[in-house]
Amino acid sequence: MPLNDDDFMRYSRHLLMDDIGEVGQQRLSDARVLIVGLGGLGCPVALYLAAAGVGQIGLCDPDHVDITNLQRQVLYRTDDCGRLKVDCAKQALEALNPGIVVSVFPREIGSEILADRYDLVVDCTDNLEARQIMNRACYSQEIPFVSAAAVVWEGQLVAFDFGHFRSLCFDCIIDHNSAEPMMNCANSGVVGPVLGIMGSMQATTVIRLLLGYFEQHGEMTRYDGKRGQWLSIHCNRNLDCPTCGSASD
Ligand SMILES: [Zn+2]
Repeated sequence: MPLNDDDFMRYSRHLLMDDIGEVGQQRLSDARVLIVGLGGLGCPVALYLAAAGVGQIGLCDPDHVDITNLQRQVLYRTDDCGRLKVDCAKQALEALNPGIVVSVFPREIGSEILADRYDLVVDCTDNLEARQIMNRACYSQEIPFVSAAAVVWEGQLVAFDFGHFRSLCFDCIIDHNSAEPMMNCANSGVVGPVLGIMGSMQATTVIRLLLGYFEQHGEMTRYDGKRGQWLSIHCNRNLDCPTCGSASD
């Protein structure tokens, strides 16, 4: 939809920037982004993308708001306990920006949701199997995939621009032989703002991808909140990767 007079006011801080301007704002407005997981990462991702004017946002999460969520999941209020997260989030995002369209999927991510052609998928889950499903769908549809995780004091983010780079994917960097149980917020705890930082990085990465400013395919960023340190890690392709390696042919 073309930008209207209200949009020129609402997005004026984008329109002032040479890197975004009217053309970039129109790109954001035309974009369809699926956010999977509406926990500590998904809340800031959804808020910033809605505020930025991403035109169509899909929200996927089967869970209801619980009082233990409120320490970090900043979209929800105490009165929301017991309600579906997707319903609370849709209401909050539409109140923030009535010019966008928000669709909800109150269930686990599955291929039928991913088949509904999105321009980009954001992984805000803490579930390895869900990540692999999203990675494979994005790889096969040649759309970008932005994944992050955070636990205790630490966060990490990795993004793939499958429309331009085919030689590395999320499955390549997983240790498929690991017998270690995965740490998550429910069994190990997490500092809320670490999720906010990683979710904000995810939202920034989504905006970069939609505007065409992303060149760090498969490069992992790690954040240590206790020491206040950042680290960038170059990831390598796994030739035996079940998704993008020779075994996938
Ligand atoms: Zn791979």
